[in-house]
Amino acid sequence: MSSAWAGGTDAIMERMDKMTALYIEEARKSIYTGESAVNCEECGEPIPEERRRAIACKYCLPCHKALESASRSHKV
Ligand SMILES: [Zn+2]
Repeated sequence: MSSAWAGGTDAIMERMDKMTALYIEEARKSIYTGESAVNCEECGEPIPEERRRAIACKYCLPCHKALESASRSHKV
C-alpha cells in the first residue's frame, strides 16, 4: 500500500531505536537534577547502575512503578 514500508521491519526498528535514544536524551536533560540515589529511598534496595545512569532517580523500578500507580489512583 505504501512505499514507506519498503525498508521493512529493520528500518522501523532502527527508527524506534533512534526515537528511544532521543527520548532518553531528552528525559535525561529535563529530569537530571543531580545524582541518582544509589539505594532506593523507598525500600533501600540498590538501584541498578543502568537505571541510575539513564535518569536521576530516587527509587528502584518496582517502587517507582508502585508510587506512580499510587499517585495515579490517588488523583481525584
Ligand atoms: Zn525500591
